[in-house]
Amino acid sequence: MLLGCHPSAPPSAAAVPDGDTTSPGAGATTIAEDSPPAAAERRVHLTFDDAPVMSEPGDGLPGPERVMAINEAIVGTLRERDVPASVFFNCSRLQPHERSVELWAAAGLTVGNHTDTHAKLSKVPLDEWMDDVIRCDQVLRERLPRPPHWFRYPYLDQGDRVELRDEAARRLAELGYANAHVTVATTEWLLAYVYREASRRGDEALRDEVVAAYRQHMVEAVEQGWALAEHEVGHGTAQVALLHVNELAADHLGEVIDDLRARGWTLVGLEEALDDPVFDRPDHYAGRGGLSWLARIHDESEPRPSYWFGEEEARLMQRYGELWRPPAGE
Ligand SMILES: [Zn+2]
Repeated sequence: MLLGCHPSAPPSAAAVPDGDTTSPGAGATTIAEDSPPAAAERRVHLTFDDAPVMSEPGDGLPGPERVMAINEAIVGTLRERDVPASVFFNCSRLQPHERSVELWAAAGLTVGNHTDTHAKLSKVPLDEWMDDVIRCDQVLRERLPRPPHWFRYPYLDQGDRVELRDEAARRLAELGYANAHVTVATTEWLLAYVYREASRRGDEALRDEVVAAYRQHMVEAVEQGWALAEHEVGHGTAQVALLHVNELAADHLGEVIDDLRARGWTLVGLEEALDDPVFDRPDHYAGRGGLSWLARIHDESEPRPSYWFGEEEARLMQRYGELWRPPAGE
C-alpha cells in the first residue's frame, strides 16, 4: 500500500513537532550567530517524490502509458525551462513497460531512492525498513548509468528515537546514500488530489481555483522556508522544496517555476542547494513529524517560532479536506 508523503497522518501530527505548543508570535525572535551567504541570492531546488506517480490507498496505478505521459510532461517542463530538479522513486510501483526512471536520468535530472514501498521508518522494524531501501536500490542500479546517491525518507520520517534516527542514517551512508533534506514542506499533495477530483467531476471552476491555490501555496511556501531560515540561522539559506509526481505538476508546474523566477528565485541543482552550511548543522529532532530541516535544527533552549507549514496544511485541509476523499459511491 502506498501513500503520498503525508496524507496518512492527521495534519497537526504530521506537520507540527510533537509537543510543540508554540503559536504565532510566541517568543521573541532569537537570531543565531552565523556568517551570511556571500551573495544574498535566493536559491531553491525542486524535488519530486513518490515517482513514478503519487497515489493513495484504494487507487489503482494508472497504466504505463498514463504514467509515462505524466512523467514526460513534468520532465518536458523542467527541460524547457532549464530547471535542474530531482526525483525520488518508490520502485515497487514501476511497471515492466514504463521507463520513467530512464526518462528522468536521460534528461540529466537527479534520480534518488524513496524506498520500494514508501515504508515509514518509525512504524516498521529497522531491518525490514532497510530491506525496503535495498530493494529499490537494486532496481535503480539496474536502470541508471551510475548508482544512486540521494535518499528521501518517506513522510520525511527520520525515526522517532535518536538511536533509530542515527542507526538508520549510518546504514544508509554505508549503502552510499545521503539524505536529500527538505526545507520547504509543502501541502501540494492535497491540492493534487483535489485537482484530480475536480477533473473527474468536470468541475472547471474548482480546477481553476485549485490551480490558483497551488501557485500561491508553492511561492509562499518557498518564501516561508526563507523566513524560517532567517529565524533559525540569522539569514536566508538555500531551500529544497518538496513536490510530488502528479497531474497537477504535469499540467501546471511551468506556472510555478515562472512565478518563483518572477519573485527573484534562482532554481539550482540538489548538490548546490545541499552544499549550504545549514545542512551541516546538528539535527535536534527525533519524532514522526514530517518537518522542514529548518525546524529540525531548532535549538530547543530557544522559543520555537510558529510553524507556517503546519498552519498552512491545516488551512488547506479545512478548505479542501472533504474533496480529498469524496464520499463512497459518489
Ligand atoms: Zn513520499
